[in-house]
Amino acid sequence: MSNPFENAMSQLNKAAKIMNLDKDVHEVLKQPERVLTVSIPVKMDNGEIKIFTGYRSQYNNTLGPYKGGIRYHWNVTLDEVKALSFWMMVKCATVNIPMGGGKGGIIVNPKELSIGELERMSRTYIQKIWRDIGSDKDVPAPDVYTTPQIMAWMRDEYEKLVGHADPGVITGKPIEQGGSEGRGFSTAQGGVYCVRELAKKMNMKPEETTVAIQGFGNAGSFMAKLLYNMGYKIVAVSDSQGGVFYDEHGLDPDKVEEIKKTGSPLACYCLGNACSLSEVPHEGPCKHITNEDLLELDVDILVPAALENQITAENAGNIKARAIVELANGPTTPEADEILKEKGIIIVPDVLANAGGVTVSYFEWDQNVKGEHWTEVDVLQKLEKIMVDAFNEVWDTKEKYGIDMRTAAFVKAIERVAQGLKKTLS
Ligand code: NAD
Repeated sequence: MSNPFENAMSQLNKAAKIMNLDKDVHEVLKQPERVLTVSIPVKMDNGEIKIFTGYRSQYNNTLGPYKGGIRYHWNVTLDEVKALSFWMMVKCATVNIPMGGGKGGIIVNPKELSIGELERMSRTYIQKIWRDIGSDKDVPAPDVYTTPQIMAWMRDEYEKLVGHADPGVITGKPIEQGGSEGRGFSTAQGGVYCVRELAKKMNMKPEETTVAIQGFGNAGSFMAKLLYNMGYKIVAVSDSQGGVFYDEHGLDPDKVEEIKKTGSPLACYCLGNACSLSEVPHEGPCKHITNEDLLELDVDILVPAALENQITAENAGNIKARAIVELANGPTTPEADEILKEKGIIIVPDVLANAGGVTVSYFEWDQNVKGEHWTEVDVLQKLEKIMVDAFNEVWDTKEKYGIDMRTAAFVKAIERVAQGLKKTLS
């Protein structure tokens, strides 16, 4: 698999060429501003000390404090963390929020730790990086395998070290700890606003539009429910257990979720016209398809909402969807991007489609530093405006330069960062 930081830099270079980016600004943007590598000794339950390695990459803070999640995963590498911090810079600038790009990670399989070990590791990580974070410096958040509970421990440890309250030091906290209303489904909600705007551009009516969603976790399941409630036909969903189903009449995501909770394979629940997954009576049972089949279905909109590198040079040629809305981070490889572009498939890129999450994280930070708590209605109104404006700016940039939406988002974002950065260099 290609190096994520090299991929990120090839995206930067592509955008730089199109927008004729200032040479000095381009040079600055080829490196993170600061990278911390820390060793994290943790007393395990058996009394032994185990050392974990952690990172924090602060890519660029021209537009505001660094912002980005902390990932706990056995495959974390420094290059991955650097790339993710670059993409966070691009994501925040794409949706025009006043935050920079950052990312952190620890090389660990959190499933192998007890709750106590997890807490001690999280607190020790903060003891190693606390001087470089803070609501006015760098604001971490959850990412893969990190949770609101972990954010609450980290905030607590940080405040003990600095000796004063600073709830805005970290976002993705539980509501009682200063978390924001709406954060739980904000990524999907942002994606839904993108789908709605895209449908207008492509003349798609919800009731005639079919959607397949890969991944039925936080992002994918909320996306399925929100789109279903708007009248879209969710024809296929999948998860890592292989429970993959296809009903051309449309599945009811709440029913899918109910059945998933029982742990049974979903296929058993569809007996033709007595289908437990769909409101609509139909002749034969839903088809059981593989994850690979799902990506290649003849649908209007495909939503990858699981892992990175799902659409590659190998399967891009077989994709039949008219549009792809990337809720997952990095689901499409650069080679696949080129193939899909040739086929005329529109991709709403991750830096735009899943930016609802970081936008509500920014709202959380904003509420914390102002000592406010907004209602869900307020949060969603503000989110809608930001997402709709960003979608249309990216669309207009695509039209202006005759480029794909991903490159357009990079051009728009880097334009914003460059304007501020240039002033610091002259
Ligand atoms: P999650 O862990 O809640 O869900 C992931 C889902 O993907 C699960 O249903 C899992 O079973 C499924 N999955 C795993 N491997 C699969 C495979 N091979 N085929 C099909 N499905 C598979 O994670 P999430 O928070 O929903 O995140 C999903 C994606 O969205 C990630 O790329 C993440 O970086 C991105 N994202 C999430 C947020 C957020 O706020 N949750 C924000 C921005 C981006």
